[in-house]
Amino acid sequence: MKNVLIWLLPLYLPAQNQKPLFTAELALWKNNKPAAVSITFDDADYTEFEYAFPLLEKYGFKATFGIVGEWTQDNASFSAEPGYFNIKKMGWKQLKTLSQNGHELAAHGYHHRKFPPVTQPEILLEETAKVKKLIETRTGKTVYTYHYPYSFVHEPLKKAVRRAGFRFGRAGEKSWKYNNPKTFDPYEIVSVAILNDTTPSAGQLKKLLENQQGRWLVLMYHRLFPRGSKEMKIMQYHKVFNTYSLYPETFEKHMQILKQSHYWIAPVIEVGSYALERRHARLKWKKHCGRYVLKLFIDDPHYDFGIPLTVILKTSAKSLIIKQNKHTHTMATQAGTVLLKMYPNEKISLKIVE
Ligand SMILES: [Zn+2]
Repeated sequence: MKNVLIWLLPLYLPAQNQKPLFTAELALWKNNKPAAVSITFDDADYTEFEYAFPLLEKYGFKATFGIVGEWTQDNASFSAEPGYFNIKKMGWKQLKTLSQNGHELAAHGYHHRKFPPVTQPEILLEETAKVKKLIETRTGKTVYTYHYPYSFVHEPLKKAVRRAGFRFGRAGEKSWKYNNPKTFDPYEIVSVAILNDTTPSAGQLKKLLENQQGRWLVLMYHRLFPRGSKEMKIMQYHKVFNTYSLYPETFEKHMQILKQSHYWIAPVIEVGSYALERRHARLKWKKHCGRYVLKLFIDDPHYDFGIPLTVILKTSAKSLIIKQNKHTHTMATQAGTVLLKMYPNEKISLKIVE
């Protein structure tokens, strides 16, 4: 019985004093941020590179860019969805620059097409695997995220995306707007589409952020045509309401609002992997030679992505001696709390400074 007890959380002192020495729990999000946001783009329109990329860099955000295989040439080129006017797209030259600057490149179909659920599974697999391989060959980096064209998603397509080796599939909005880190479907991550300059408005975007404590909001952007540009004029002439386009200054306003949120803002691959690994992570205590040893386990090796998780350690001690990865250091607690960064299967040994 004694052996069983020492594995339980929190770690207790002997019977005469039941006050816990330490409690440890896994933070929902990296660095114990209250919520997470991913900024995603579709179609690899050239304006994403021309206007969004410098603004993302200015505010220190990394985003996820969805690429359509058949639209991408070495240099910028023009292409269009059926029935739409030609839009300048990024080439590998621009996409590589994004990738080298820490942005995530995602697949957005080899073709920008809706494949009905009755499509042969082999065709769905070919469609999704072909674009993955293309991006990987051109950039030398593994592609983990798939953005469903038109956010059109069904079970056979989700299965193909998984079989092709993707870790995540980003879909559109459902009856809900946020992803619960403990329950979201990695192959059907919900996202909120930015439809035009006023939908959502700055006020609506702030509200979206306020309402998402503990959860993950994925924003779906497209092009950024400037005020008075030829493209904006064409859309205004045809009275297109959902332009899927923003003025660059509106996008910058969005970035300012995100910056004020103090949430964790990172690409889909980073936020999604943290959430999935955390779902399968367990903390265990052990007492060893007067020290308390905390270990982080992953219960299913398939979800061991080798990324560090944030552990919230609470203690009544004023400072601790922490031994991690052969380094020993003393750490003062802040309001009884210390945040630790732990990799899967890593151990941390703790001792209270008397
Ligand atoms: Zn698209």
